[in-house]
Amino acid sequence: MPTVPTLTLNNGVDIPQLGLGVYQVPPEDTQQVVETALELGYRHIDTAQMYGNEAGVGAAVAASGLDRAEVFVTSKLNNNRHDPQAALRSFDGTLDTLGFEYVDLFLIHWPLPAVGDFVDTWHALEGIYSSGRARAIGVSNFHAHHLHRLVEASTVVPAANQVEISPYLTQGPLRAANEALGIVTEAWSPLAQGAVLDDPVITAIAAAHGRTPAQVTVRWHLQRGDVVFPKSMHRARMAENLDAVTFALTSDEMAAITALDRGQRTGPDPDEFNWVPKG
Ligand code: NAD
Repeated sequence: MPTVPTLTLNNGVDIPQLGLGVYQVPPEDTQQVVETALELGYRHIDTAQMYGNEAGVGAAVAASGLDRAEVFVTSKLNNNRHDPQAALRSFDGTLDTLGFEYVDLFLIHWPLPAVGDFVDTWHALEGIYSSGRARAIGVSNFHAHHLHRLVEASTVVPAANQVEISPYLTQGPLRAANEALGIVTEAWSPLAQGAVLDDPVITAIAAAHGRTPAQVTVRWHLQRGDVVFPKSMHRARMAENLDAVTFALTSDEMAAITALDRGQRTGPDPDEFNWVPKG
């Protein structure tokens, strides 16, 4: 099994740098997909209340025969639960659904700047953290100005900021802002949902290494120092993505991929996204 490096969060908790994301994995398939990932050697699963598949993640960890402590599981607060009391209640629901006594990392999924004050929501997460039921807490889709406001008004600095990053959206300034605050950067949609896999620069580098474009892209994220969790439901692709830990890109190759930046998002700009599901 390939050895995945770990990063250490700002509270001393280790996080495997490569994991499996389960966004858009149907609930009925999630247990089998995550069991396959765990068999292959994945030890980090990224889910969310919004994905509706926490139950399958928890069932897979239970069925795997692994100790709970061997698998790093992240979940995220849904957008309709920013009210502090709702956040606390829904966190209890997350633990029940996963069948866990704790999660490794719990994130505010989106800042929702027009909906309410994410600082109030963060204070609820600080309470969860101090209860020990989340080993670390963090945020997702926070711009630097959101982070600065949060940090000024809080005791606990987020351990991670999970944001969209790919070769077409390299996020240099936001990654630097995270780093300056001691916040680990996590890269979501690391393959731009597949859009970068036909890029001629990436395919040429892949050919030079006898690797696939997906492996080259995952490797680029790892060498930048970000946490990454490409999504796949297929065993062969999961194995391929995990194998990105077994080779290295040159600094010229890294620079050539970073130069592909075109500010292209697959998802919304967090400053303009205020979608709240019903319920
Ligand atoms: P991704 O960039 O990981 O792309 C996934 C798609 O790439 C798959 O559907 C598959 O078609 C393709 N793919 C994966 N491995 C491949 C391979 N080896 N060869 C060829 N094609 C391959 O996109 P994503 O699922 O949007 O993002 C990954 C994870 O990031 C999610 O599952 C989720 O955990 C997280 N995420 C978080 C947020 C957030 O707001 N925090 C938003 C989106 C995604």
